[in-house]
Amino acid sequence: LNLMQNLQKEIGLTYLFISHNLSVVHHISDRVGVMYLGRLVELADKKILFNYPLHPYTQLLLDAIPDIRSVGKPRKKIQGEVPNPLEPPAGCTFHPRCPYAKDICRKVNPEMRKVENMGSIVEVACHAVGNWRK
Ligand code: SF4
Repeated sequence: LNLMQNLQKEIGLTYLFISHNLSVVHHISDRVGVMYLGRLVELADKKILFNYPLHPYTQLLLDAIPDIRSVGKPRKKIQGEVPNPLEPPAGCTFHPRCPYAKDICRKVNPEMRKVENMGSIVEVACHAVGNWRK
């Protein structure tokens, strides 16, 4: 990772870095995209995404990161199982697991749209953001 970062500084490389390891993602990235079932659901600058996530999946994902400062703190669990990507659910593919799902979520797949978050423009695919949730 450090070699990659050195090369980035020396010759101005841009990387598309894909990982499940959020610590590594935090270490190496400037902008972070979160995918669920093969689709981008949130895209934001690293600091905004890690500190002020908007998409429910991003929020639950970040809440699952072990944190020594939060020993004993109850965690929110993502309910249900990951659906079969060959037969994804209708509408928002996260709706069977989302604590904020409403009828529209079961019918219409939300498009990525730009919204303001803590003074930064981010992109998020969620009907609830800006409507029935911040
Ligand atoms: S669109 Fe609906 S189901 Fe999908 S993440 Fe947003 S609130 Fe949850």
